Amino acid sequence: MTPNTDRNQQLFDRAKALIPGGVNSPVRAFRAVGGTPRFVQRAQGAYFWDANGQRHIDYIGSWGPMILGHGHPRVLEAVQRAAQDGFSFGAPTEREVDLAEEIVRHLPSVEMVRLVSSGTEAAMSAIRLARGATGRSFIIKFEGCYHGHADALLVKAGSGLATFGHPTSAGVPPEVVQHTLVLEYNNVAQLEEAFARHGRELACVIIEPIAGNMNFVRASVPFMKRARELCTQHGALLVFDEVMTGFRVALGSAQSVYAKALPGFAPDMTVLGKVIGGGMPLAAFGGPRALMENLAPLGPVYQAGTLSGNPVATACGLATLQEIARPGFFEALGKKTRTLVDGLTAAAAEAGLPFAADCEGGMFGFFLLPQLPQNYAAVMKSDSPKFGRLFHGLLDRGVYIAPALYEAGFVSSAHSDADIAETVSIARDVFRSL
Ligand SMILES: *Cc1c(COP(=O)(O)O)cnc(C)c1O
Repeated sequence: MTPNTDRNQQLFDRAKALIPGGVNSPVRAFRAVGGTPRFVQRAQGAYFWDANGQRHIDYIGSWGPMILGHGHPRVLEAVQRAAQDGFSFGAPTEREVDLAEEIVRHLPSVEMVRLVSSGTEAAMSAIRLARGATGRSFIIKFEGCYHGHADALLVKAGSGLATFGHPTSAGVPPEVVQHTLVLEYNNVAQLEEAFARHGRELACVIIEPIAGNMNFVRASVPFMKRARELCTQHGALLVFDEVMTGFRVALGSAQSVYAKALPGFAPDMTVLGKVIGGGMPLAAFGGPRALMENLAPLGPVYQAGTLSGNPVATACGLATLQEIARPGFFEALGKKTRTLVDGLTAAAAEAGLPFAADCEGGMFGFFLLPQLPQNYAAVMKSDSPKFGRLFHGLLDRGVYIAPALYEAGFVSSAHSDADIAETVSIARDVFRSL
């Protein structure tokens, strides 16, 4: 299309003049794959239409929240009714209590929650609470896991084993990350070494149990078992960042997947976002009562928010959670996602393409690698130029996946069997052309 008629390009040009990179969150700019971001005009069910009027089958779904697809009638009605009654009060409302009850009902490890507005805020606050409750400063995070953009979490591994991290962003002073240890995901030996050295100073280990910010990498069951044991032995808290996996991979979230393999397993704190807001700015963190009561106004750990528990956002989140709690919802969603992943895997095999894929509930990932990677370094061995060609091949034909090879994919209940079949058929053509 010429620049004159490409509305996406026109909008991108206007945006770039006013907004850094033309976007309000970096991955939207397509830097990893090149080309012009699609500006979304409207969306319905499994589809959105871009500024040129092209329809796309949406496998991003706002990076996970749209588990019911776009514009689900009952969610839409709940949001419209809530908006009629007022946008924000800075005072408590009934729906905050309803949503807290709905969250706690499905997560046995969570007795109390605090609602916030973004996953970043939730993870940052959870870490403050872990530090406040334990009186310790050190935290462990894993390379390739993303926990939002709080300063202390924008950190990558230093050289050598279990060394302190380096900031990954300008503007983060080294002193701010000096208590953040960055370890390799799924590396039991490194974790043991870190605990041996710093166990008594560790406030928490924060982890994405299924890491969706390096595409789709599961923490192995032995690794998770050992993390749980070490945290318990040393009095550190195991914090599950389920902003992406929460109410997405199962009604009981990723922790229920690990509890199946490890009876009695539970994290000490859970960070939530994305699906619990149903597409509105809403996130949360929660855990046992005794821990959560360290938060202001009851305890000494300060945390607050003007728009926290927003009445329209809670209406959206509550309606979404009520829909996904219906019997059979996750069985159907999981089956659909599995069909997609199996279809893509078969199509890649026909094309002789190295390909490995995995999924859980409504979340999936695939790699242009002969086998599933176990950590960030292995993920980054993916063929990036080839991924770029794959991405644009799908995009041109109306299949919208994440514009970076380190991002997960999402299926919603609105994706029909025909949508999945169409996607696999398009992918088959694109795989052959690579
Ligand atoms: C998206 C995400 C966050 C950050 O949430 P925002 O709402 O974007 O601030 C944190 N942790 C994980 C695991 C995420 O996927």
